[in-house]
Amino acid sequence: METSDGSLWLYRQLAGLRRLDYRAKILLLAFLGIHVPLIALALWYVFRSSGDWLMLVETLLVTLVATLLGTAATLLALGHMLRPVVLTSRALRAFREGRPHAALPEGYTDEVGTLMADAQHTLQVLSAALHRLSYIDEACDLPNRRHFEQQVAQRIASGQPVVVAALQFDNLPRITHTLDVRHAEEAMRQIGARLREHVAFGDQLSRIGTRAFGCLVGTGEGVAERVRAGLADCAQECPVGAIVVHPMLHAGLAAYPVDATQPAALVDAAISAASQASALAPVALHSPRARETAQERLRLEHELRRALRHDEFILHFQPVVDLQANRVIGAEALLRWNHPEHGLLLPQAFIGAAEGSGLMEPLGLWVLRQACAQLQEWNAGVLPGFRLAINVSGRQFQNPALHQLVMDTLAQYRIAPDQIEIELTETVATADYAHTRRVFTRLRDAGIRIAIDDFGTGYASMSALRTLPFDKLKIDREFVSGVNGLQQSQAICSALIALAKGLDLQVVAEGAETALEVRELAQRGCQLFQGYYFAQPVPAGTLAQNLAAQSHWAPVCAPAHQPLH
Ligand code: C2E
Ligand code: MG
Ligand code: MG
Repeated sequence: METSDGSLWLYRQLAGLRRLDYRAKILLLAFLGIHVPLIALALWYVFRSSGDWLMLVETLLVTLVATLLGTAATLLALGHMLRPVVLTSRALRAFREGRPHAALPEGYTDEVGTLMADAQHTLQVLSAALHRLSYIDEACDLPNRRHFEQQVAQRIASGQPVVVAALQFDNLPRITHTLDVRHAEEAMRQIGARLREHVAFGDQLSRIGTRAFGCLVGTGEGVAERVRAGLADCAQECPVGAIVVHPMLHAGLAAYPVDATQPAALVDAAISAASQASALAPVALHSPRARETAQERLRLEHELRRALRHDEFILHFQPVVDLQANRVIGAEALLRWNHPEHGLLLPQAFIGAAEGSGLMEPLGLWVLRQACAQLQEWNAGVLPGFRLAINVSGRQFQNPALHQLVMDTLAQYRIAPDQIEIELTETVATADYAHTRRVFTRLRDAGIRIAIDDFGTGYASMSALRTLPFDKLKIDREFVSGVNGLQQSQAICSALIALAKGLDLQVVAEGAETALEVRELAQRGCQLFQGYYFAQPVPAGTLAQNLAAQSHWAPVCAPAHQPLH
């Protein structure tokens, strides 16, 4: 802002002379000032002229020479006296333009001396602040990615072998979701402090991502093992706010020049490897294949979002047959993706990506709505009162609003609660018994049935499972398809069927493909079947046609090809 101080009038006037720098202007003023006596003398002689021109010229010459010598000495001295101002000005300008500048002296106490000292101090403080902003992560008080990459570059330039480790705090997003970013940053700080203290991670430990640290680790045998042991040491629980977090720490390793030749690419490769690590294999080495897989996954997630917007999903329905009553008792709704290029895709091609990207919730909601819309159509037409089983994913099951969402959807499509059955896999159901019991109880109180899917694969504790309120067990295909040969599968099927009967639960054999399997299971007391032997999953129209082709909507469902006995 322009100052209105009147004392700047002369400065302001002379500022217009842009060709002269400040020092030159002062020297010009001094030059003019020093010559005033000489000019005054000359004028005085002219007005009081005595006619002795020779004497006048002599006097003027002597005075002129003396004045010029004096002026030269004065200007030289003045020029030097102005150096502090010039140096300060240059230092400030160089700082502003990001150029290096010489340090200003700090030991002087007059105004110009303190001007230099203050400017030097201010520049030091600003430089440190800028450096911190550019190279330090404030939350963890560690160097940031930019700094880390510079260190990696230096190490590469020095010709030493370089292996970058990315140390990833895998469950950090959960803290962000459950609490907030502030608490997540606090958790990162605690883990960063532990890693810094650990001998395995001491070399250039930096924060290189929202949930990743980076460091340089040695080469040769046993690096991965050392990193794994170091992570285990640092993964003790840490208190954050009102909760205690059990950090899941994974690492990825990338080596120069095998995995990348540029520092940034090397760090990316290590991060990409870290995301391939898992609880069972917490340290992963970079592999281009893994990277491609991750890129494909990203593409798939992008396509899934588009598919949701463009309504590319459909439901197929696979009947569930009651062998004794010889009729279809309902069907399971199974998700399909009508991909514009690849045709009809089965869930295994996309459900993992949907789960991983948070798309499973909107997708699951779409399935619920679509299934209810279908039931509404059937209620009003060819299949009144038909029952549908709907799969619910782990992510959906975590949603505290699930019960309300289901109830709202049933009300919206005017569907009776006992027309739907919620299927949850054994693994998801047994992840948190207290939560599962709460949700199951609410759903069942509302009249909705519950089935435990893929039963037998999750090795759930039977005694704990008994305490959950549900209606049906679906024996996984893995055991069903081995039932006519493998003794172990036979024993498991017998045990599961007996268990279900003992607990007064219905039991369904999933994936029955042959008459032999059906007979083996029927002999062991299984009554309900779902499998290709009876019917494949088909679109709604085909299902209605197939059922209508029978004598009534819940017809005899004759085994398609082979006789049972
Ligand atoms: P699931 O819930 O256990 O569904 C049964 C799967 O077994 C279906 O595979 C079905 O087509 C298949 N199947 C049925 N009978 C036979 C048979 O005789 N032989 C063989 N080989 N397979 C048979 P699909 O449709 O590929 O679904 C696979 C899994 O994807 C489902 O397993 C379920 O876990 C999941 N899924 C499907 N739709 C949804 C959905 O809408 N939401 C959620 N969260 N998951 C779904
Ligand atoms: Mg299912
Ligand atoms: Mg299943």
